[in-house]
This record gives sequence, structure tokens and C-alpha cells, in this order.
Amino acid sequence: MRFEVLVLGNSSATPIYERHPTAQVLNFNEQLFLIDCGEGTQMQMHRYGIKSNKISRIFISHLHGDHYLGLVGLLSSMNLTGRKSELHLHGPAPLLDILHLQFKHSDTTLRYNLVFHATNPDVEEVIMKSQMLTVRSFPLQHRVPTTGFRFDEGARAASLIPEKIGGMNIPTVFFQQLKKGVDCTDLDGTVYRAAELTKPAPASRSYAYCSDTRAFSGYMEAIEGVNLLYHETTFDHSFLERAVETFHSTSLEAAQVAVQAGVKRLLMGHYSARYKDLTPLLEEAKEVFDESVLSFEGNWYKV
Ligand SMILES: [Zn+2]
Ligand SMILES: [Zn+2]
Repeated sequence: MRFEVLVLGNSSATPIYERHPTAQVLNFNEQLFLIDCGEGTQMQMHRYGIKSNKISRIFISHLHGDHYLGLVGLLSSMNLTGRKSELHLHGPAPLLDILHLQFKHSDTTLRYNLVFHATNPDVEEVIMKSQMLTVRSFPLQHRVPTTGFRFDEGARAASLIPEKIGGMNIPTVFFQQLKKGVDCTDLDGTVYRAAELTKPAPASRSYAYCSDTRAFSGYMEAIEGVNLLYHETTFDHSFLERAVETFHSTSLEAAQVAVQAGVKRLLMGHYSARYKDLTPLLEEAKEVFDESVLSFEGNWYKV
């Protein structure tokens, strides 16, 4: 089952060196979610073959322009291209006022149902739950109310072992039960044991998104043990003072967070315009946490 994130933008604040403000597309089992929507997101989606009408949910972390100024344009384009399907939008409460104001003065009535869910910047919350996926928001520490997001895959199914079931004539109606670990008995009294006929389910995967934030202990539990942590790395550690002032993180700090939270891999981004070459950021992170990778626009990263 596919669980991957496409980086559409990895620049902080302003677009520079062909880098765009923050946006990511998460593909979970062919459901597409957009995480943040900086200016230029539509063009980036076009460039990397993401159809906007396939996006079913959008998550906005906070109301700094580099994380949502592409949103009104995207929602308007969805209207123009005849979107009919419902769209869920999760973000800070004032976002709804901003959208209403924009649509009011452009005399726009959306022809699709936009369902808004205000995030809570003060406590961790489950904001979406299905059998396959749970999404949580959790507080970050930034200059305006900001949340991170965590995506947890539900329990995965065991799989049948073809060499064992081949030639056994197991009634196919038993397959789902066996995958769930339930033994089955047919009308002749033959017992089919799940433990013998199936491979155990692989571990569930999880993705956490932290942009923008000071590195602090408050979100450690919320991101604990994820397979892939996206964490902003706006500065290298020689700019720690600037990071503290602007409520951002250094590359070194993000790597320390990755270690403390026991994550498997760190995906870096939200690079300051002062870095044309990103090597110093990567080297600093890798010294602390070897499983650190730079995000590049247009690349998919497996969760
Ligand atoms: Zn930002
Ligand atoms: Zn910000």
C-alpha cells in the first residue's frame, strides 16, 4: 500500500533558487492530501502531475504567508475546473474568515462543499480517523498559533502464503478471516490455521510534519517513533540566535529531535534563502543523526 510524500516546496519565506514556499502532497493508498499550500503550489502540482481534483483533504499548519498564500488560488481553480466532490480543510480558525472575505469580494460561490475543521493550537487532537488512517494535530512553538500533523496507518493485514494455500482448495470466503488471524473450519471439518497459512502483518507506518517551530520538548511524544519525520531546518547552528528570535530550528536541533523522538528517518526542509548550497545543513544533521536527508522538490519520499 502506497504511503509517500511528494515535496512541492522547501523554501522558507520567499521563493528563491528555484525553491518554492512550503507544500507537500501525501499519497496514502492513492488518497491525496495536501499539507500546507504556499504560493506557487498549483504550478508545482501541475509540474509534478498532481491533479487538484484528486486532493481530498488539505492541512494548513499556520497562517504565515509561505504556508497558505496559494490556497485561495487553488480553491478557486478547483471551482473553475468543475470540482464537485467534497473537500475537507483543516487549519487555524481565522483561515475561514480569510477565505470568506476573499470569496465575498470576488463574488465567488463555491460549487463544491468545502468542509472546514478548525485546528486547536493548544492541545493534541485526533482530527481525522478511518479504519486505515488516523491523523492528529499537535501544538508547535512558533510566532503565531501553529500545529504539526501526524499520520498513522491503521493495523495492516496479514497476507496468505501462496505456497501453503496452493492446492489446498481453501474456500475463498475464508481468506479474509485467515488474514485477520481467525482459524476456519469447512463443512468436512477440515481446520485451516491462520498461523500456518499467513505471514504476519507488517508494522504500521507513520509520518509527522513539523513546520515551523522551535525545537522543544513539547511535541516529542506527538512525533515519537514515526518512520519519517519532516522537520524544518531553516538555519545551520551558527544561526541559533536567529533561530530562537524567529521561532525556527537549526539543522542540528532537528537532528537532535529526531534522535530523542526515536524516529527512523529525518526529512529536512524550509531552507533559509541564505543557503544556495544545502550541504552545510545536511552535514550538520548527519553528525547527530545519520538517517537525515535533504528534501528536494519533485522527489517522493517513502514513509
Ligand atoms: Zn515558514
Ligand atoms: Zn511561519
